[in-house]
Amino acid sequence: MNVLSLEKLDSNFDRYHRMCGEAMSKKAFDELAPLAPEAVTFNIKRAVEHWPGNIVIRTETPGYVLDRPAFIRSVLDRAKKEGCHLEKGAATSIVKDGNGYLVRTKDGWEIRSKWIVGADGWNSLVRRTFFEGAPRMLWTEQYVTGVQTEKDVMSFYYDQKYLGGYRWVFPHPKGSRVGFTKGTDMVPEALERHVRPIPYDYHSFVKGGACLVGDSAGQANPITFGGIRQGMVAAKMMASSLVNGGLDDYERKWRRSKRASTSYVKAFDALKLMDNDALERSMGPFRSGYGRRTMLRAMLSGKETRKLYQAYALAAEWGW
Ligand SMILES: Cc1cc2nc3c(=O)[nH]c(=O)nc-3n(C[C@H](O)[C@H](O)[C@H](O)COP(=O)(O)OP(=O)(O)OC[C@H]3O[C@@H](n4cnc5c(N)ncnc54)[C@H](O)[C@@H]3O)c2cc1C
Repeated sequence: MNVLSLEKLDSNFDRYHRMCGEAMSKKAFDELAPLAPEAVTFNIKRAVEHWPGNIVIRTETPGYVLDRPAFIRSVLDRAKKEGCHLEKGAATSIVKDGNGYLVRTKDGWEIRSKWIVGADGWNSLVRRTFFEGAPRMLWTEQYVTGVQTEKDVMSFYYDQKYLGGYRWVFPHPKGSRVGFTKGTDMVPEALERHVRPIPYDYHSFVKGGACLVGDSAGQANPITFGGIRQGMVAAKMMASSLVNGGLDDYERKWRRSKRASTSYVKAFDALKLMDNDALERSMGPFRSGYGRRTMLRAMLSGKETRKLYQAYALAAEWGW
């Protein structure tokens, strides 16, 4: 296929793509092969969760914090070698044009194509033009600080004030990056500030020859807030569907995948309603850590919390 990738950002590209924890699990790359974890800044060994009631849960979670702009560039270089045309340009309008589409850019180009893939982020032009409604948005703020933290650990702090979310502390070359649901915590002394939404809970991915992948499709996981793997796996499904003649297979595969489970959104909505006592109670069975036995005991402890644990287990496996 003759593929054109259009990117609107130029000098701002790195800054935009650093507005992220930049974390990906090792499992993500098992699925994304032959892509490999390039531009790794830190190798992650553990997640440490701090829950109300002084519950601290340590889990082995192999993964990476990437230099995400460099990682994306390595993916784009690879695509270019495979024959993809990479152009700088901001799409400003897309209209149906016979059997295909006509894209107009800010610089006055007109591009005709048979298919349109909206991989254009949370405020997707493709979604706004051809699809109805929008994903729900979880607005977040994140800060790069000079405060040092363990370089192989991702830390999470749960509290009712984060409204279903949490505060995360990840390693950063300058110290740490600290993020939380927008407006829910004190702003730390920071070197950089990032504000962006994480779109989730949307259920329309294909309309004729147009489709959505990644944040445009609200495919991020509302339990882990992970969206890089989700978007890349969706893109892989979409591409293999397209080369086989159309987009229907993409929609079918995504809907059947563990990533599309409705359990994540239900769990997130349940977490939003829980106060610190309820959060503490829900994590009580795991005081001594996550494990098969503790998970089994927890699963038997009640219907509502069972759904929560199922969503956590799925998210740990598929969500980042
Ligand atoms: C604070 C924060 C922390 C996060 N941490 C993590 C994390 O640690 N791990 C993780 O997996 N996920 C994380 N996420 C989620 C993750 O960042 C997103 O889900 C992911 O970036 C989505 O990728 P995408 O390619 O779909 O969209 P984007 O990254 O938004 O990329 C869209 C691209 O399309 C371009 N574009 C947009 N409109 C046009 C146009 N009209 N014409 C041409 N080009 C256009 C943009 O310039 C951009 O380059 C985090 C999100 C936030 C906000």
